[in-house]
Amino acid sequence: MMRHKDDLARIITAESGKPLAEARGEVVYAAQFLEWFSEEARRVYGDVISAAVPGRRALVLKQPVGVAAVITPWNFPSAMITRKVGAALAAGCTVVVKPAEDTPFSALALAELASQAGIPPGAYNVVPCSRARAQEVGAALCTDPLVSKISFTGSTATGKALLHHAADSVKRVSMELGGLAPFIVFDSANVDQAVAGAMASKFRNSGQTCVCSNRFLVQSGIHDSFVSKLAAAMRASLRVGNGFEEGTTQGPLINEKAVEKVEAHVSDALAKGATLVTGGKRHPLGNNFFEPTLLSNVTRDMLCSREETFGPLAPVIKFHTEEEALAIANAADVGLAGYFYSQDPAQIWRVAERLEVGMVGVNEGLLSAVECPFGGVKQSGLGREGSKYGIDEYLEVKYVCLGGV
Ligand code: NAD
Repeated sequence: MMRHKDDLARIITAESGKPLAEARGEVVYAAQFLEWFSEEARRVYGDVISAAVPGRRALVLKQPVGVAAVITPWNFPSAMITRKVGAALAAGCTVVVKPAEDTPFSALALAELASQAGIPPGAYNVVPCSRARAQEVGAALCTDPLVSKISFTGSTATGKALLHHAADSVKRVSMELGGLAPFIVFDSANVDQAVAGAMASKFRNSGQTCVCSNRFLVQSGIHDSFVSKLAAAMRASLRVGNGFEEGTTQGPLINEKAVEKVEAHVSDALAKGATLVTGGKRHPLGNNFFEPTLLSNVTRDMLCSREETFGPLAPVIKFHTEEEALAIANAADVGLAGYFYSQDPAQIWRVAERLEVGMVGVNEGLLSAVECPFGGVKQSGLGREGSKYGIDEYLEVKYVCLGGV
């Protein structure tokens, strides 16, 4: 992958619109999962347990779960595959990948590289299909007795449908689903640091990441300064355009449906009394381009506070107390990532512990890393990817009781 970094990055940009610099970053990140799990494979070992009964010995073996079916989204066409496939192959499983219909080419390019790298034929398989066939293919993978494990990344609604299909044969499942990440800025925060974190967390991949901040909760004392500095940073540093052009920081959204969703969230918020600070409409470039948008005076009843926007919209909700911020942040049925900015050590402990999410960024707007566990609580999913925990998702634990010793 690293030898073909530029080609793989160009494929990602061509199929998803992601700016080339970000696509290169994704290829490096994707390759790191293969490296990480190839090393982690050497640390898959079991236990010898002191048996309570005389004459017995107790052993624990870890064995590959079997064939793993992997269904991936379009927003990281390469990394979402290697995060699963790296762990599966390292555990000794074979995999069938069904990539997202908008981005099948990265998956196919990886198949070619897998074959060149000497991965045995049949160990990494790709089954691309149209959106119209996705349900049928997904159901087949979830019900086929040859498949032992389903690992899915995508929307919570699709995840629930797959869980339902997989229930009949009690397949092992891992789910990385949607989020609604709160980004809380307390009065004690360093406002410039918070603005830099907000820019990174919100606008990477045009706001189309499951961990990107969806709701900005800003305490009253720092609110006006944060909003004006964030607006200035957005105007100064975001450049919408063709992902292949040097200097572009924001490409198009993935498809027309995605643009309609951002539009709907903006118009709903404005109709309910939000204030438009910057952006707010389709970009003059047309197609699927949307302006980076900042709204203030947002309230909890607006769509953008309750649903994942998955686009370049930053809605700001003003709050007064820590309790109020936590109540708003935790009033979601999903909990993937959450971020907060504070310089108060006691508050940092309290809030990190009380946020109902699987991953917390404290004074940090980007948190994904191969060596750290990625995953969510509540309806954001089941299981963890990456890290030392990721390989366990593809291993069964077998207890062997040895008698007559
Ligand atoms: P999606 O659920 O529509 O599609 C994801 C994958 O599922 C695609 O491969 C698609 O073809 C397939 N699919 C769709 N319907 C299916 C069905 N009925 N049966 C089987 N397969 C089906 O999601 P999306 O719109 O492609 O991706 C965006 C969503 O993914 C967001 O909600 C985002 O938060 C989530 N996401 C989560 C993570 C994470 O790690 N938690 C990472 C990226 C994206």
